[in-house]
Amino acid sequence: MQLLRSTFSAFFFFLSFTLSAQKATYIANSGVLVQVGQNKVLIDAFFEDGRGKFLTPQSSQLDAMVAGRPPYNNLSLALATHAHPDHFSPTQIGKLLFTNKKLNCLATPQVVDSIEVVMDNFESIHDRTLTFPLSRSWKSYDQEGLTVKAAYAKHAGKSNARIQDLIFLVNFNGKKVLHLGDANMDPDRFEELKLEYEEIDVAFVPFWYMTSFYGAEVIRQHIGAKKVVAIHIPENYSQQSLDKIKKFMPNAVIFDKAGQSITF
Ligand SMILES: [Zn+2]
Repeated sequence: MQLLRSTFSAFFFFLSFTLSAQKATYIANSGVLVQVGQNKVLIDAFFEDGRGKFLTPQSSQLDAMVAGRPPYNNLSLALATHAHPDHFSPTQIGKLLFTNKKLNCLATPQVVDSIEVVMDNFESIHDRTLTFPLSRSWKSYDQEGLTVKAAYAKHAGKSNARIQDLIFLVNFNGKKVLHLGDANMDPDRFEELKLEYEEIDVAFVPFWYMTSFYGAEVIRQHIGAKKVVAIHIPENYSQQSLDKIKKFMPNAVIFDKAGQSITF
């Protein structure tokens, strides 16, 4: 009996450690830090211009990322979905890569080009700014402990038609995390991506998908994640928008306060 009890307590200790080791923390706007075991990935977290509408990381936070201070120590990878200033800053990401000599950044060609434009010593980081040629199919990137699948999507809104946007599906040894960037809510494109077969653990989705029945159905039918997190929420978003999210996607977690986190 004693043995059984200690086996059970060891099991629950292991379980709670495992659960707490799979964590996503909200930085600002669409920016998150995802940690699974020893692997830490920053997605759309490295920017400083909220366009007057969106929460931005504090400058002390950006400094901590560059200096590799906890929780940003030993970063595995930085991802940038697209070259809009509320998702990425070329100057800051250049500094991050220059200081962290082993860190790679995976992003769109437009992101990489804009880093090259602002950075004098771009050559020193060039081989760690990775991208994929524009194509409609998934492309894959591997490094120790994780695989990233990336596919292009149209950016939401007609005025953003020329902006390249990548959808990232990060697989941490079986735990799968999806980040849509600002991907257009296009069921035909999602139909091609076949995300519903991936058994995604957490999906970070722009909040506007969740403010209509139609958008919520796109998430349910074409993404089908176990947890859905609403991101890209304006600082002064209305109670009406919040009510709609609660109506159409009642189980969604809403990331609107810096430092919020979920486990998965
Ligand atoms: Zn955008």
